[in-house]
Amino acid sequence: MNIRLRRKAREQSSKLNSYPHQCQLYKLPPVEDISLEEFERLAVDRLKLLRDVESAGIKYKRGSGEYNSLLKKASKHMELHREDTTKSLTELYEERRRDHLSHFILRLAYCQSEDLKRWFIAQELDLFRYRLDDLSMAELDSFMKLSDLHYNQISDKEKKAKRSSLEASTFKSTKESIDETTYFKIHFTEALDLVRGRKVYIEMGYAYVPHQELVSIIQGVFRLSLSRHLAITARSLPTLDEDDRLMPMLNNLSHYYVGENYTKQSANRVTPEQVDHLSRESFPLCMRQLHQALRDNHHLKHFGRLQYGLFLKGIGMTLEDALRFWRTEFVKTMDGEKFEKGYSYNIRHSYGKEGKRANYTPYSCLKIIMSNAPGPGDYHGCPFKHTDPDLLRQRLRAYKLQKSAIEEVMELVKGQHYQLACVKYFELTHKVSDPFFLLNHPNQYYDESRRVLKGDDASVKTQKMDLDDTPTQTTFDESETFSDIRDDSLMEMDESSITDEPELCIQ
Ligand code: SF4
Repeated sequence: MNIRLRRKAREQSSKLNSYPHQCQLYKLPPVEDISLEEFERLAVDRLKLLRDVESAGIKYKRGSGEYNSLLKKASKHMELHREDTTKSLTELYEERRRDHLSHFILRLAYCQSEDLKRWFIAQELDLFRYRLDDLSMAELDSFMKLSDLHYNQISDKEKKAKRSSLEASTFKSTKESIDETTYFKIHFTEALDLVRGRKVYIEMGYAYVPHQELVSIIQGVFRLSLSRHLAITARSLPTLDEDDRLMPMLNNLSHYYVGENYTKQSANRVTPEQVDHLSRESFPLCMRQLHQALRDNHHLKHFGRLQYGLFLKGIGMTLEDALRFWRTEFVKTMDGEKFEKGYSYNIRHSYGKEGKRANYTPYSCLKIIMSNAPGPGDYHGCPFKHTDPDLLRQRLRAYKLQKSAIEEVMELVKGQHYQLACVKYFELTHKVSDPFFLLNHPNQYYDESRRVLKGDDASVKTQKMDLDDTPTQTTFDESETFSDIRDDSLMEMDESSITDEPELCIQ
């Protein structure tokens, strides 16, 4: 019995040898076989983690208490424990393996364009930095040894000789702290962040970096290695082209929605007669714009109809009401027969009553922002991203926003934080404020608006980052999986050429 236990312990610890530290530089790709299902789950979990990292970085200063709290909460999507916890060796191995695999899966998805690469590198770097900052000095030393990062420590004699320079240049250094600190002599090109921040002493091309600032150097090493490996991955991607299971998944990961599922129609019925009023009160700007265009032109082009029609379905418009709603507008410029032939089929299709009878889900903000940019005569898209800033300013003015409020929104637009600009617009128009409110979906905007306007105390709570909450379990919508992305049944929905795909939804 004892022999068996000892053997098992030996096996577990040898497995963990493949991941000797909770932090990794991800230099070697994984070589094991995994199921498609696990591939999907790992991709989604890491995506959730990175999206939360991004939100934390936009809302708070990196390294601040609030930022670290948000990242601690986000880390639950992909936990990594140290060895001195109650976790067994098998559990530690499994955590590190998940971290390793999921990083490489997203590499495949995010190496495909410059924008995607930039986003991925930024979030991975922030996550890496947070994890390094959380290490003790001993753990950091061990990580450096295991990662072949060998930096030359300066001798006590050299430190003594340079004491006054080190005191004068090292951030917040004191005489005592200089004595206690270990300094490393590193070529200045490897310490550019510290040089730029004037945090280190430089002599003859070498920066004298205190032990606690080594994290910046290691971060630089990781940045370089990651961007190089992303370029290599991109070059090898065409070999996957023939795999009709992986490529559709990878192509859609970039705008993959990971929030609440709005496929299920709201129980509160919305009738065509209510829409004018609701659009002014509770529609996000994207949907208000589409509604206004429909009323003005009595027509919307294909992507506008898809974006708006699925939104209306999600907020509680029945199929009969939808047919009546679209018909009422369209027959102002065409006869009823043309509408029946050209449009009513598509509406029934989006409600799952025609074709493959799929229950299509309303579009998320990411999907709206990232795909199908509107062209001339189009009204779909996200106004914060796709509308000319001067025009957007004008529109906000027409919606009675104060000048200073408009500038607050525009500042976020300028920084390309479109969803945050939308949150700001929500807060300003609803007179609420919640630092943890994250907006991912136009239907979420609508639901929150109705809650606030009805005076519900639980307002602005969807996606609220309660720091004590346990994370929501990732569950796949039974009716749709990644492989459904390839379904081209929506091709039936347009009178011209439709290249759009139904969006996946994970609750
Ligand atoms: S951020 Fe989302 S909800 Fe807001 S306008 Fe853009 S797409 Fe619509």
